[in-house]
Amino acid sequence: MRLLCDEMLLRLGRWLRAAGYDTAIAEDGAADADLLARCAVENRVLLTRDLRLAARAEAATVPVVRLAAGDAAGQARELKAALDIDWLRAPFTRCLVDNAPLDPAPPEAAAEVPPSSRAAGGPLRRCPMCGRLYWPGGHVRRMQARLAAWKRD
Ligand SMILES: [Zn+2]
Repeated sequence: MRLLCDEMLLRLGRWLRAAGYDTAIAEDGAADADLLARCAVENRVLLTRDLRLAARAEAATVPVVRLAAGDAAGQARELKAALDIDWLRAPFTRCLVDNAPLDPAPPEAAAEVPPSSRAAGGPLRRCPMCGRLYWPGGHVRRMQARLAAWKRD
């Protein structure tokens, strides 16, 4: 399942990437018609809180989920109900910034990880698009705990 978040759902989009879902996020000021066309071409489900955009999507037979909650936890619950989203599908296998699938990082990349995090071990992954390195440090562990809570919720 591929998703497209409108620009108001940037945070939710990053959480979906953290859970491993292929999630595009609309650029600021993107036209509704362009979002709908992209969903159709890339076979994505549109996520939005915008009533008018949701109605346009329905008229164009683009699959859409209109979210009501204003916070990420509420939206996470709504998505689980609407699309059966598994919040622990494949945690931290995609870049949070650009959605690219991460590659295993070469062993020498460990030198870039703070020593305190290196001690914890775990997989190192690198984004082939932006070069960002991901390791299971405190930030990732906290995010993963939240994803686990959303899965149980
Ligand atoms: Zn990246």
